[in-house]
Amino acid sequence: MACIEKIYSVSALVGSGACNGNCAFCAGKYLRPQASDDAIYWKNFESAIKLSARYGGWSLSLTSSGEPTCDPDAVTKALCVYQKCAGEGAYFPNVNLFTNGILLADSAFCEKWLPLWKDLGLTNIAVSIHSVDLKKQAEAYGLEQYPDLRNIFANIRKYGIGVRCTLLLRRGEINNAKKYQEAVDTLIGTYGVDNITSWPVANPDGSRNSFTPSWWGLCTIRLWLHRNTKLCHGHVWGGGVYDYKGAILRLTDYVTKHDPKKDFVRQLVVFQDATVAYSWIREGALCMK
Ligand code: SF4
Repeated sequence: MACIEKIYSVSALVGSGACNGNCAFCAGKYLRPQASDDAIYWKNFESAIKLSARYGGWSLSLTSSGEPTCDPDAVTKALCVYQKCAGEGAYFPNVNLFTNGILLADSAFCEKWLPLWKDLGLTNIAVSIHSVDLKKQAEAYGLEQYPDLRNIFANIRKYGIGVRCTLLLRRGEINNAKKYQEAVDTLIGTYGVDNITSWPVANPDGSRNSFTPSWWGLCTIRLWLHRNTKLCHGHVWGGGVYDYKGAILRLTDYVTKHDPKKDFVRQLVVFQDATVAYSWIREGALCMK
């Protein structure tokens, strides 16, 4: 039996679970009934940050069972807790907010919240991209229209927050090397995004579903990365970080099942029923209640 030596990161679900998108493949919906503002949840959120920081963690990710920006007060509260932890020594160099980006096209929304979130320690906003064709991006989100990515990215950068993209690999869309390269080149060349993370859409337990790209399609993307990039470092849980013409590309899996025989934890996950688990798959991975 191994002892835990390293806890790389914390991912926390925040907010009401409300969402301004309506994706057919949404993996967060099943967690919406748990959305709450429970005092024990906030206590365990703080403990998870401090535990990961003590075990060498380097990033905090705020996400939601819906869209976190639809409940900006909850994002603010989470960042206030983080700020307190950072003041007590539990500092993360990367504090990321994961978002569908829709509300960030609204400059009044950004003016109200982004300077505050930056002051509270937010370093990056990761916008989920299903296609660089905005019509297809709107379709994926179940919307008539998706805002211009230029406006979203300009609004984020204006307040000194880094722009990242989560490029989602999905059957029928970005599902092979050709489409992956097109999307990456567009994000870098047209939109100036230089930090892109990708993973295949899958079920909440990491298993394949009808939206997951084919095994062969994913292989072609790995092969393309091998031929066209330089590996910066591998992840112990699989995948890695690559240098592509000076931009960071990261390929990983949607979730990693916790293995109690390994001496590392990819991420502590803070669920809104106040459970903290060693992975998104809670069974056999309980850490705090
Ligand atoms: S934007 Fe995210 S939370 Fe909202 S429906 Fe789509 S996948 Fe689900």
